[in-house]
Amino acid sequence: MSKSSAFATLPGALPGLMMDRPLLVTPLLEFAAQYHGDTEIISRSVEGPIHRITYAGLWTRTQKLAHTLVALGIKPGDRVATLAWNHWRHIELYFAVAGIGAICHTINPRLSGDQMKYIIDHAEDKLLFFDLTFADAVAANCKGSPSLKARIALSDAAHKPANPVLADVLMYEDLLAAQPDLYDFPEFDENTAASLCYTSGTTGHPKGVLYSHRALTLHSYAVCTTATMGLSVHDRALPVVPMFHVNAWGLPYAAPMSGCSLVMPGAKLDGPSLFDLMDTENVTCSQGVPTVWMGLLAAMRDKGRKPKALTRVLVGGAAVSEMLIDAFEKEFGVEVNHAWGMTEMTPLGVVNTLKPRFLKQTRAEQMPQKLKQGRAIFGVDLRIVDEDGKALPHDGKSAGHLQVRGPWIVKQYLKGGESPLTADGWFDTGDIATLDPDGYMQITDRAKDVIKSGGEWISSVDLENAALGHPKIAQAAVIGMPHEKWLERPLLICVANGPDKPTLDEVNEYLVSKVPKWWLPDAIAFVEAIPLGATGKIQKTKLREQFKDFAFKSTP
Ligand code: AMP
Repeated sequence: MSKSSAFATLPGALPGLMMDRPLLVTPLLEFAAQYHGDTEIISRSVEGPIHRITYAGLWTRTQKLAHTLVALGIKPGDRVATLAWNHWRHIELYFAVAGIGAICHTINPRLSGDQMKYIIDHAEDKLLFFDLTFADAVAANCKGSPSLKARIALSDAAHKPANPVLADVLMYEDLLAAQPDLYDFPEFDENTAASLCYTSGTTGHPKGVLYSHRALTLHSYAVCTTATMGLSVHDRALPVVPMFHVNAWGLPYAAPMSGCSLVMPGAKLDGPSLFDLMDTENVTCSQGVPTVWMGLLAAMRDKGRKPKALTRVLVGGAAVSEMLIDAFEKEFGVEVNHAWGMTEMTPLGVVNTLKPRFLKQTRAEQMPQKLKQGRAIFGVDLRIVDEDGKALPHDGKSAGHLQVRGPWIVKQYLKGGESPLTADGWFDTGDIATLDPDGYMQITDRAKDVIKSGGEWISSVDLENAALGHPKIAQAAVIGMPHEKWLERPLLICVANGPDKPTLDEVNEYLVSKVPKWWLPDAIAFVEAIPLGATGKIQKTKLREQFKDFAFKSTP
């Protein structure tokens, strides 16, 4: 039960007579060890070989790690950083750190050196556990931080990094080997922080989101329902989404809750490597961003088949295209579920599963619904509001600022100043969206990326997705550029699919049947590569900087 409830007791109401047991995350692993003790966690290790361990084995090692942390001086509230891929040792860290009341701070290794240093100092991390892959980054960026007491490489003595700057590094396996098998984990308030993840920070400094045990546990229940990922004891899930990006969408917690087996890809996230691991380990479901699925699609086409047990993939982080859904579902019989969420939401917000009446439709009729980000789930309240904060109708047409509320949604950032919430307690996602009467939400843009043309909004995301269907375009980004008559008009920036670059007229001829005519880009430009941030999202701030001197030739 929440001890710090902000809600009043109604006069005359009777308190329920149920036990006051806290919702803590470490018992999730203990449960799996007890009742799914022989279920496997299979990982592609950073050292090379495939590694296999059961939930029972993982639980013993987690207890040894808890002893190790205490021996290294870690106390409740301390932050313990990780710079690691998806594998069994990273799972041990999730549960051991949180189990002793400390906080597992997962750092995104794709951050720049300055950003990495900034968040280590901001979080005041005491320890840093890192994969051998990141030894050079640690040597370059993770020194001189006043809070850091020790750095530990996630491997054994045989793999000690040779870099002399890392001479003082401790080796994980050596530390664990010296510790006893049993640890008596304490029970404490479920509102205690368990993990920390910084936002991708495309503007300003990244901000720390501090997840509580309660939020992570409730979120795990949501992940297991069939309205979302439907994780079950029959599944073997392969989260491609990294454990440093919003707790791998909650899978390391939800899998032990459901008894699902985990297959962890380590550092190899390319299509052929994922195909092989999925195929040999009979993976049934997998979760990741669209670019990952493009890689797997190429590998499936290469082999002429899907990984043999794969039935469904969850796509989030960026909008999924019709082409990708069709290729997976029609060519290979693998169901695609679109999903949306964010770091501030632990991260699950909506997932697209079709209600019965849509199942009676033809594929073509279903597609607009499948392309929406997903359907409301219990635990995440959604609303859309206009510029003045006035609620807009859920008619599937009115687009407004998407705001959310719920027990696994941020209320304040770590060391944050002003509350990020609205006066009436909602969190503004920064996304622009529609909501339909069935509860399906569709993102039309980021608030800061929407193109304001003559008082109307043009969705840069929709334009990008439409442009991506053109055979001569490999990658596309759309930004609004100043325009003397319309205030802003769209500039389409592309990476061409080969030497033959399409003209603006050619592209617009293709787009005219797909988007409103007044949305058609006024200019097209080609670049070698579209800049992507640490979580794979297009960095429009960089593009705006790159094209700051651009001017439309004539008023259309
Ligand atoms: P992050 O906190 O890095 O996970 O980023 C969250 C943001 O990613 C959201 O606010 C959206 O702008 C974007 N996003 C996540 N999922 C989707 C999706 N399925 N379609 C479009 N944008 C998405």
